[in-house]
Amino acid sequence: MARLTVIRWLILGLSCLFLLSGCSFTNGSTAGKTLTVAVEPTFPPFEFQSGTSELQGFDVDLMNAIAQSAGFQVKYQNMPFAGMIPALQTQTVDAAVAAMTITAQRAKIISFSRPYFKSGLAIATRTDNQNITNFASLKNKIIGVQIGTTGALKAKSLPGSEIRTFNDSPLTLQALINGNVDAVLNDQVVILYGIKSGNLNRLKVVSSLLTEEFYGFPTPKGSPNLDLINQGLATVLKNGTYAQIYQKWFGIQPPQLPEKSPIENQTSKKGVSELFTSLSIIFKSLPVLLGGALVTLELTTLSVLLGILGGSLIGIVRLSPALPLRFCAGAYVDFFRGTPLLVQIFMIYFGLPALAQTFGFTLNLNRLVAAVIALSLNSAAYIAEIVRAGIQSIEPGQAEASQSLGLSSVQTMRYVIFPQALRRMLPPLGNQFISLLKDTSLVAVIGFEELFRKGQLIVAESYRSFEIYATVALVYLFLTLLFSQAFSRWERSLNPIKKQSK
Ligand code: GLN
Repeated sequence: MARLTVIRWLILGLSCLFLLSGCSFTNGSTAGKTLTVAVEPTFPPFEFQSGTSELQGFDVDLMNAIAQSAGFQVKYQNMPFAGMIPALQTQTVDAAVAAMTITAQRAKIISFSRPYFKSGLAIATRTDNQNITNFASLKNKIIGVQIGTTGALKAKSLPGSEIRTFNDSPLTLQALINGNVDAVLNDQVVILYGIKSGNLNRLKVVSSLLTEEFYGFPTPKGSPNLDLINQGLATVLKNGTYAQIYQKWFGIQPPQLPEKSPIENQTSKKGVSELFTSLSIIFKSLPVLLGGALVTLELTTLSVLLGILGGSLIGIVRLSPALPLRFCAGAYVDFFRGTPLLVQIFMIYFGLPALAQTFGFTLNLNRLVAAVIALSLNSAAYIAEIVRAGIQSIEPGQAEASQSLGLSSVQTMRYVIFPQALRRMLPPLGNQFISLLKDTSLVAVIGFEELFRKGQLIVAESYRSFEIYATVALVYLFLTLLFSQAFSRWERSLNPIKKQSK
C-alpha cells in the first residue's frame, strides 16, 4: 500500500515538473528576460533551417544581435506564418521573426518595430513562359501565393485571376515548377534566393518590383518589449552590426532605411463592440464556409464511392486462395494504412509530377483529382479490412448450407453471405465515412478550398481565429452528426428483428 502511494506521488511530482518545464513565465522586469519569438523557417534567406536543422537567416541573425545588445534572451517557437498574427494577438508569443511586411491592416491589431528591411513583391514564372510580362498579364492566369501574405493580397486585387494558396513559400515554387500554377507572387528576395540556392533554373523573375514594402518585427499591442526591440535595433543599426549581417546575407551594403515606418501603429479599441464584431464576422463568413462545406461533401462522397469500390475489391482479393494476389492486397493495405495521409497527399500532388519531370514528361494533376486519388486510395485500405472482416465473420456453416441447397459460389456470396456481412460492416463503414469527412481537411495543404481552407483564408484576412475556427468546427460537427444519424437509421432498417416488429 505504502509503495503504491510513493509511486503515485512520484508520478504526480514528475508530471508537475514536466508541466512546469513546458511553461514559460514572463515577468515585468526586462533584465535577463526571455522573449518567445515565433518563426517559420521556410522563408530563406530570412529564416530557414540548414541541413543540420540549425535555425538561420538574416532575420534570425538580426534578432539575435538585437537581443544581445538589448540584454534579453530569445526562445524561438515554430509556427506557420498565417498563425503568427493570431498568436501575437493572444500574446501566446512576444514577437515574431518572419520577414513581416508592415501593413495598415496589421498595424491595427499588432505593433511593429521600426523598419529593418526594404522589400517588395515580384512575379516568378517558368522560363519558357513568354506571356507573363507584368502584373496585368496575370489576368486569367493561375497565381500561386502563400496564405496570409502580402503576395496573396496583391493577387486578390487583380480581377479575373485564379488564386491557389499554399502554406509556405517553397510549396508555391514547387507548384510553379510542377505546372500547377502559372506564376507565383512573393517577396522578390525570397524568389531570387529560392531560384539560386535551389538550382531552379526552370524559373525566372519577371519585371521589376510590384510594391515597396518594409519589414518590421511585430509584437502584441501595448507590449513593453516593443521599446526593447526598437532600442536594440537602433543600436545594431548604429554600431555597424546591421551592415555586417546585411553584407553576410546579401553581399552588398544596406540601403538607407527610414527611422519610422510610413504606416504607424494604431491603438487598439476593445469593448462591447467586440462581441458585435465577432458576431458580424461569423455571419458574414457563413455563406463562404457553407460553400466550403459543399466542396467537403463532394470530396467525401467521391472518395467514399471510389474507396468502397476499390476497398471491396481488395478486401475480396485478401480472401483469395491465390497467395501472390493475397500478398499484393496485403502490401497495399499495409502501405496505405501505415503511412500518414498527409504524406500521401504530398506524394501525389507534389511528388508524382516532380518524378514525372525527371523522366522527361509532364504530369499536371488537377487538385480535385489529386485530392480524390489520395483520399480514396487511403480509405480503400481501411474499407478493404472492413469488408474482409465482415465476410470472415459469417460462420462457414452458412456457405456450406447454401451450397448444399444448390447455390453457386457467386449466388452464395450475393444472397447469403453479403447481406449478413453488410449489416456487420455498416458500423465500421459509418466510422470510416465520418473519419474521411474530417480527413478531407488535410487536402487544404494543396490549396484545395474545402471547409477548413475557406476558414483559414478568412482568418488570414480577418485575424479572427477563434470565431472562424469555432464556426468551422460546428459545421463539421453538424455534418458528422447528420451522417452518423443516417448510418444508424440504415443499420436499423437492415435489422431483421426490428423490421419484423414494425
Ligand atoms: N513579407 C510578406 C508578408 O509579410 C511575406 C512574409 C512571409 O511569408 N514570411 O506578407
